[in-house]
Amino acid sequence: MKSALVTGINGQDGSYMADLLLDKGYKVFGMERRSSSLNRDNTGHLEDNENFQFLNGDLVDQNSLLRCLKISEPDEVYNFASQSFVYESWNTPEYTGDATGLGVLRMLEAIREYGKEVRFYQASSSEMFGRLVENPARESTPFYPRSPYGVAKLYGHWITVNYRESYDMYNVSGILFNHESERRGYEFVTRKITMNVAKISLGLSDSFALGNLDSMRDWGYAPDFIEAAWLMLQQDEPDDYVIATGEAKSIRDFLDAAFGCVNISGWERFVTQDPRFFRPAEVDVLCGDCSLAKEKLGWEPRTPFNDWVKSMVDNDLRLAKRELILREQPITFRDMS
Ligand code: GDP
Repeated sequence: MKSALVTGINGQDGSYMADLLLDKGYKVFGMERRSSSLNRDNTGHLEDNENFQFLNGDLVDQNSLLRCLKISEPDEVYNFASQSFVYESWNTPEYTGDATGLGVLRMLEAIREYGKEVRFYQASSSEMFGRLVENPARESTPFYPRSPYGVAKLYGHWITVNYRESYDMYNVSGILFNHESERRGYEFVTRKITMNVAKISLGLSDSFALGNLDSMRDWGYAPDFIEAAWLMLQQDEPDDYVIATGEAKSIRDFLDAAFGCVNISGWERFVTQDPRFFRPAEVDVLCGDCSLAKEKLGWEPRTPFNDWVKSMVDNDLRLAKRELILREQPITFRDMS
């Protein structure tokens, strides 16, 4: 039985990776940070799985990483942990550099100290391309990050490549373009939109505010993209791959699609713009070319844009309805005890 250590287990990508690995018969160890507000919305379903175990660890704590490796004895390590919200990286640039950048170095050093053969996957990001030098971006496209997050991810990417070349480690860097799903955090624009669309269609809200509506992203469906991450670690030779759909859409296009799912036209009535949600430096357009992944991994995106947007809206309608029911339920003394 293969064993895998997945960091960032409670996030979108870590939780999908755990599901995929368990399906494939792995023993999976999910590393989570102990915090006062532990959120297992994405991983609650794993708690009773006998092939799954949570471990406490933190990318800013070197010893905790070595301990996680010793307990899990992994064949494969998937590093999804990071301060992953671009906007927040201007508020906490030093922490973002520490966790998202140096955290990768700490894990690689821990693997070296652990001493056994381990395959390592680093979750790199299209934000490293930032102000696109070449459109669509490929593995050979020069990087131009536009946020403290992008700069930190670039360090993580290069240290992964450098340790492969320096120490002959099996390291890969997956340069994934934006990927979304029902498990996406509410602070990201797609989920913010689908949750608000659900609330508006149920009469729970009548407007919400966004920032820049003109930026364009190459959005794909997270479960498809996570499969590519697994495939990268199954190759004879380690290499770095761009994972993307090849199609860029604007925030306005996403609003059209999401409001379309609940048959509301003219979303402009419900959406305001607030300077608070604009960024000090913007990435105007991201679009990727995944030809290498197609050729070498046999991977391509499977789920069409409109299908996964509908899954997100339907999921948020279910959650918003639950909120509506809770609101309407009279509170009894027994509920309060
Ligand atoms: P990112 O590509 O990793 O930064 O993913 P996000 O989902 O956070 O942002 C995608 C794009 O949506 C960026 O160009 C943001 O400027 C834009 N955007 C516009 N309004 C908002 C908003 O209210 N929240 C977020 N998160 N992004 C917004």
